[in-house]
Amino acid sequence: MDGIESQINNETAEAQINRWVDSYSGPSNLPLEAIGSKEFWLALKTRLNSAYLCRDFNSIPKNLFNADERREFWLSVDAFDFARFYHNIPEGLFSEQEIIERWMKAYKEDPNFVGDIFDKVPKIVLDFMENKGFLSLSKKELNRSDGLKIEIEEFSDANTRHPFGTKDIVAADHQGNVIRFSTLASPSFKFVSMAQNQECFWDAINQNTVWSCDSRRKIILYGDLAERGSLFTLLHEAGHSFQEDLASKIEEGEYNLKLAEKGNKGGEVDRLIQEHIGLLAKAERDAWAYALSQIRLLRRNQNFDLEPSLKTKNDFDRIIGTCLCVYDQGKSIEMGIETMAFSRNQFRLDDDLLAFFNEEQEKFEKENAA
Ligand SMILES: [Zn+2]
Repeated sequence: MDGIESQINNETAEAQINRWVDSYSGPSNLPLEAIGSKEFWLALKTRLNSAYLCRDFNSIPKNLFNADERREFWLSVDAFDFARFYHNIPEGLFSEQEIIERWMKAYKEDPNFVGDIFDKVPKIVLDFMENKGFLSLSKKELNRSDGLKIEIEEFSDANTRHPFGTKDIVAADHQGNVIRFSTLASPSFKFVSMAQNQECFWDAINQNTVWSCDSRRKIILYGDLAERGSLFTLLHEAGHSFQEDLASKIEEGEYNLKLAEKGNKGGEVDRLIQEHIGLLAKAERDAWAYALSQIRLLRRNQNFDLEPSLKTKNDFDRIIGTCLCVYDQGKSIEMGIETMAFSRNQFRLDDDLLAFFNEEQEKFEKENAA
């Protein structure tokens, strides 16, 4: 082994890492070698404000650091960064107890800070705070034009009255029957109102999406509940909350797609795009199917009509069409992938989806007519 040559190579590698670190403004401008270099991320960690790395944590290739190393990173940041970037922490790295302790530390230092980012407060923390009397509850009533009454149960800080998010959304009909939407979504998810939360509001505007389900933050983001079809749409988003496996596959696919695009791997990019569209279509189809079947079950078994103004296939189709259009624009912008031939036709012309929808709808109309 040539001693001088290896020394030069080492110096070059180190100089290169320093250059990457010096010019770092985010993962999107990084070359592929930097993204895959453990030494680069370690160098960045020692040089950079931890908040940046918390923000970009999910751009670090998942197999580059083991669970202990990732845990060690999150233990080194303060309670506020832990809270602010909570949804970037890989799942399973911390126990529920540890999560509650870290959040309560941030909350006790500044209740308003935690209140301001309440869309990120995990459900377990919210439940804990409610049980311990840190939060108080108020109710906001909304009368929809179809006669349904919708009650939004809202949390605020028990002392400062600072808003703290939604506890539940409850629908009531004329006979006093009540449906709690928390029972129709996955228990670890919570509802977040765009109107209540500035940060979510801007996220939603930037991505051009209004109603959505974010499986990493475990939130169901809702818009105007007085709109026609709002509860059908809310059920659709609740349907996504049961798709955590599918959502992590989609997220991994997006990640691999970005890497393949950076590496200019044309064939791989095309394959990943097709795979991605397939997964998205499945997620959408399953979530609409969930919404339809829940409405059908409630009408049949509990004589409760969540959407009295939606009766025919056309009624439902119009709501679905509007949502897919918004979703499509938002998703393309978020992905930032020019080559992606991604349009709502991809969903609407999907034979399986149409067949399934028609089948569900026929059953539904037959039951309604009877
Ligand atoms: Zn959807």
